[in-house]
Amino acid sequence: MEFISVFDMLKVGVGPSSSHTLGPWRASQQFLAELNEKQILKKITRIEVDLFGSLALTGKGHATNVAVVLGLSGENPETIIVEKIPVIIEQLKSEGKLNLFGEHPIAFNFEKDIVFNKKFLPFHANALTFKAYYDTTSFESTFYSIGGGFVVKEGISVTTKKQEIKFPYPVEKADELLQHCNSTGKKISEIVFENEKMLRSETEINNELMHIWETMLECMYIGCHTEGTLPGGLHVKRRAFDIYQHIKGKDPYSNPQEWMGSIRKTKMKFREIFKWVSCFALAVNEVNANLGRVVTAPTNGSAGVIPAVLMYYLVIERHNATEKHIKQFLLVAGEIGSIFKKGATISAAMGGCQAEIGVSSAMAAGALCELVGGTPGQVLAAAEIAMEHHLGLTCDPVGGLVQIPCIERNSMGAIKAITAAELARETDASSAIVSLDKVIETMWATAKAMNSKFKETSQGGLAVAVNSPDC
Ligand code: SF4
Repeated sequence: MEFISVFDMLKVGVGPSSSHTLGPWRASQQFLAELNEKQILKKITRIEVDLFGSLALTGKGHATNVAVVLGLSGENPETIIVEKIPVIIEQLKSEGKLNLFGEHPIAFNFEKDIVFNKKFLPFHANALTFKAYYDTTSFESTFYSIGGGFVVKEGISVTTKKQEIKFPYPVEKADELLQHCNSTGKKISEIVFENEKMLRSETEINNELMHIWETMLECMYIGCHTEGTLPGGLHVKRRAFDIYQHIKGKDPYSNPQEWMGSIRKTKMKFREIFKWVSCFALAVNEVNANLGRVVTAPTNGSAGVIPAVLMYYLVIERHNATEKHIKQFLLVAGEIGSIFKKGATISAAMGGCQAEIGVSSAMAAGALCELVGGTPGQVLAAAEIAMEHHLGLTCDPVGGLVQIPCIERNSMGAIKAITAAELARETDASSAIVSLDKVIETMWATAKAMNSKFKETSQGGLAVAVNSPDC
């Protein structure tokens, strides 16, 4: 049975895409590790990268080429200073040199040495092959970016340390999670915490969860305080700033924590609540589209839903919420995301936008439901309701950029999550006709039946209707 940690589902990274930016970046890092292991890194004279399928079709808009060279340069997506990214890329282009692993400069043509090959490889729509030349020979590896920043190498069966660990509460399906809760009387967050303790100490879990939340909060803060247009050529105006100007309070603040306090004091009628939630979600995805630092949750394109719903709880729903609630929320959200990954997909190239926004909405709905007092059955019902109303949602990013319809879609996913949590809270979960497992099965069947035009290729839907050139 596969174990997926909450920290596999919620990862700090760089925008705009988990499958097209973070995954290829991770693949580059793995390739570098292979060169190091073979002790040939210092002998390399040239590197060529082939991007296949969806990575080729939308890779320019999703900054796949940028991610690949940053990874090969030895940069880490978790720690890189994001403001430096354009500077590094401009320098690489003008000098025609790539400093492999930050220590071995080789000639590199940014336009020619990354090949956008529209062919699809059989295993997955997001594939990339690295070929490194040295002496009179070469070494190559193919990787697949399978969604949410997860990467697998061709020909390697993934046997990880995690598969040897005996977790106290193994979960493959939602129904098993519910049985663990019923037999122990524990909440879902408590079951997840017990499993996570097999991989990390309690202190590490708590610190990492708070690091994730602080990154989300910082991201919303930056997004709400940054005006202008987004890069890529569509000239999309940043709207979180404008909305924020209309709804912000009068209390001064100088950091994200004080900012939360000032929001709590603003007038909150029904319309304002909608605007705040939308504003939080837009803010995150504008930062993401600007290649900023976000938390992949479960993907970058859908990174705004979970922060927006958690922020809603903290500044609107419950003013005296504590760190305990933040951790509880993230544990439940991560677990629900992992059940979707095990039973279906979180990759838009495999399942369209239902796999991104749909899954993030289900994660947020379940997590919120536990915080508002939902039973484990109601938590799973909330996730089911949120996904049920995203089934069939296609992925059709205009110009291959994670901007239209992606940014607004996060607001929609967040609002649906709140509605789903409240509906589930008023539902007798034991008599629900559609279970979470059933909706995951349906989502996967829908994904398989979906035309490839709607799976992150920018060959259908709005991407074609808007008739924009590939930016
Ligand atoms: S349309 Fe949805 S799945 Fe596709 S890139 Fe945008 S957010 Fe991601």
